[in-house]
Amino acid sequence: MLKLRDVTAGYGKSEVLRGVSLEVHAGEVVTLVGANGAGKTTTLKTLCGLVKARSGSIEFDSLNLTSHAPHEIVELGITMIPEGRQLFPFLTVEENLLMGAYKTSARPFHKERMEKVLEIFPRVKERLAQLAGSLSGGEQQMVAIARGMMADPRLLVFDEPSLGLSPLLVDQMFDVVRTVADQGTTVLLVEQNVFHTLQIADRGYVLENGCITLSGTGRELLDNPHVRRAYLGH
Ligand code: ATP
Repeated sequence: MLKLRDVTAGYGKSEVLRGVSLEVHAGEVVTLVGANGAGKTTTLKTLCGLVKARSGSIEFDSLNLTSHAPHEIVELGITMIPEGRQLFPFLTVEENLLMGAYKTSARPFHKERMEKVLEIFPRVKERLAQLAGSLSGGEQQMVAIARGMMADPRLLVFDEPSLGLSPLLVDQMFDVVRTVADQGTTVLLVEQNVFHTLQIADRGYVLENGCITLSGTGRELLDNPHVRRAYLGH
């Protein structure tokens, strides 16, 4: 479904991605893990068109994404849930969700879509009329994911969804990611919570200094001595 080949990208004179290649197949949960500053967010921004790839190719269903603008990439079926939630605090939860149905093809069906999305998020359903800014951190994260689902994406891209959540909420959030995938949306997930992520991921890639240094199934990476030493602390 998604194929990055030797992608380089950066900011000004600094090159952050130095030849990233990875693949996501339909129906998978794939994770990209790595230390702070390794280039994880930059990888996601490059695939969503927010940062220009300097070389290499990014294919989504055989279409070359590097020649598309970010809004076109959304229309093609890729939605990113950015780090830090970024809800509209003075709008209600329902209004925030409707903002997610901006994709042209999703607009006429937003009512049906919302019903379907709310089945995954019963807690969000209870709070539709509440101002988004008054929700707890965990609830805001769920609304951000639900809003991303409103665009009816084929590939949902998460940037650090567990950031700032308590351990219990982290568990719930990972359960939601798995549910989203099991219901047919393919997931690419960037996380610093390496242990949890590899447990729910079908496959993963380790990004170090802008290069992919390891890849394998979630289980293989959890058992890998380098991953254990560098990211799991044992
Ligand atoms: P983290 O886990 O801390 O979010 P990351 O792996 O997602 O890290 P990136 O956010 O991709 O890393 O950043 C990679 C490098 O690019 C860092 O050195 C960062 O300072 C730099 N960088 C990111 N955004 C910009 C920008 N807009 N302008 C200049 N440099 C940037």
